[in-house]
Amino acid sequence: MHQATLLGQALTDSRKFGWEYHQQVKHNWETMSKAIQNHIGSLNWSYQRALREKAVAYVNSYGEFVEHHKIKATNGKGQETYYTAAKFVIATGERPRYLGIQGDKEYCITSDDLFSLPYCPGATLVVGASSVALECAGFLAGLGLEVTVMVRSQLLRGFDQEMAEKVGSSVQQLGIRFLRKFVPVEVQQLEKGSPGKLKVVAKSAEGTEMIEGLYDTVLLAIGRDSCTKKIGLEKIGVKVNEKPGNIPVSDVEQSNVPCVYAVGDVVEAKPELTPVAVQAGKLLAQRLLGGCLEKDRVIGFHVLGPKAGEVTQGFAASMKRGLTKQLLDDTIGIRPTRAQDEVDVTFGTCFLRAELRYRQLSANSCCLLPVGRRSPPWRSRSHRGWTSRRRTAEAKPLLSLSLPRSRFCEDGVLSGKPGDSVGTRRRGSRRAVHPPG
Ligand SMILES: Cc1cc2nc3c(=O)[nH]c(=O)nc-3n(C[C@H](O)[C@H](O)[C@H](O)COP(=O)(O)OP(=O)(O)OC[C@H]3O[C@@H](n4cnc5c(N)ncnc54)[C@H](O)[C@@H]3O)c2cc1C
Repeated sequence: MHQATLLGQALTDSRKFGWEYHQQVKHNWETMSKAIQNHIGSLNWSYQRALREKAVAYVNSYGEFVEHHKIKATNGKGQETYYTAAKFVIATGERPRYLGIQGDKEYCITSDDLFSLPYCPGATLVVGASSVALECAGFLAGLGLEVTVMVRSQLLRGFDQEMAEKVGSSVQQLGIRFLRKFVPVEVQQLEKGSPGKLKVVAKSAEGTEMIEGLYDTVLLAIGRDSCTKKIGLEKIGVKVNEKPGNIPVSDVEQSNVPCVYAVGDVVEAKPELTPVAVQAGKLLAQRLLGGCLEKDRVIGFHVLGPKAGEVTQGFAASMKRGLTKQLLDDTIGIRPTRAQDEVDVTFGTCFLRAELRYRQLSANSCCLLPVGRRSPPWRSRSHRGWTSRRRTAEAKPLLSLSLPRSRFCEDGVLSGKPGDSVGTRRRGSRRAVHPPG
C-alpha cells in the first residue's frame, strides 16, 4: 500500500520532470488488494518451505494449553490434536481493539481488514492517533481518498512529542483532516454497500459538545490487545497483565512458568515491531538450543522524511557498532540523498545533520567515506563541490553497500559504469547532472 501511494505521488511529480501523458491515471483498489494478497501468499509459502527444509513440522491450528506441557491444536475443520513438549514459546501477537460502542463491531473495520478489503473504502474516518492510525490514514490519503482522523488526546502517544507533531503536520499536507479531542459514541449504518454509508456521532473528550459526520468507512485503530485470553494460560499459571493482556518475561524471555517463553508483541514493554519479534525469536532459539547470547546496544533514532526506512537501516548498522555524534560529524555526506539534505536526526536534544559521501565501486556497490580522508584515484576527475580538503591519498571505505544499480538510478542518487567517479547521472546519460558536493 505504501508503494502504491509512493507511485501515485511519483506520477504527480513526474510532470515537473518532463513526463507528458494525457490519459487519466486512476487507481484500482481491487488490483492492489489482489497483489497484496498474492505477495502475502508467496511469503507464507516461502516460510513454510523454509520450515520444511529445516525439518520443522508446521501445524495450521489454533493452540491452547490444556495442562502443563500439553496443548490442544484445533484445525479449521474442528479436528483436535494434542501435543506435548518440554518447552513452549508463545508468539500469538495482538489483535485490534474495538471501542465497545453501539455499531462498532457491526460496521467498522480495522487495519487487519484493510489489507484484504475487496473494495475501495472511499471517504474514511480513522479513529485513533497511533502509528497504525496515521500510517493507514497516510496511505489512504495518498491513494486520493478523503480521510479524517479522530484523535482523543495526543498524536503518537509514547513517541517524542515534537516529532509526533511534525508527523501530524506532514500528514495534514496530504489533505488529511484532524478532528482533535473527540471520541465516537455511536456508529449507525445509513446505507448498505461496499462501502456503505455510515453516520458517526462523537462527543468532545473535554466537554459536552457533540458532532456528527458521514463516512463510507470507519477504520478503528485505537490499540491492540495481546492474544492471550483464550489460550489456556490460566490453566498452567502463566502470569498475564490485565490490560492489554501481555506477558511479563525475564530478560531471557522466560515467563513466570519456567517451561513457557514468550516473544514478539505479546510480551510486556517491548517495541511492537516485526524485526524486534524476529530477532527475539532467533536469540531465544539460540539460547534454548545452546547457542551464544548476543547483547545489543540500542540508541534512540528518529527520522521524518521520504525513505526513512532506508536511512534508518544504514544508521541502525552504525548504531550497532557504537555510533557517536562525533562519528556522525566526522562522516562525509552522500549527495544528493534524503539522508544528507532533508533528514533531521535528533539524539536527545542534539540536532544533527548526517553527512556521508560515497563513491561507486562497481555497478552495484558504493562506499561511504569518512570526513577528513581524501578521495584517492578518482580525485583527478574534478567535480564542483568535491572540495580539496576531502582529497587525500588514503581514503578507505567505511562501509560498502551492495544495492541494485536500478535502485540508485531510481532514487536519482547515483548511476554510472564501474570505475566511474563520484557523481550522479540520469539512467543512460553520460552527463553528470548533479555534482556530489
Ligand atoms: C497496520 C500495522 C502496521 C505495522 N507496520 C509495521 C512496520 O512498518 N514495521 C514493523 O516493524 N512493524 C510493524 N507493525 C507491527 C508488526 O506487525 C508486529 O510487531 C509483528 O507482527 C509482531 O510479530 P508477532 O510474531 O509477535 O505477532 P504476529 O505477527 O501478530 O503473529 C502472531 C501469529 O500468531 C497467530 N496466533 C494467535 N493466536 C494463536 C493461537 N492460539 N494458536 C495458533 N496461532 C495463533 C496469529 O494468527 C498470527 O499469525 C505493524 C502492525 C500493524 C497492525
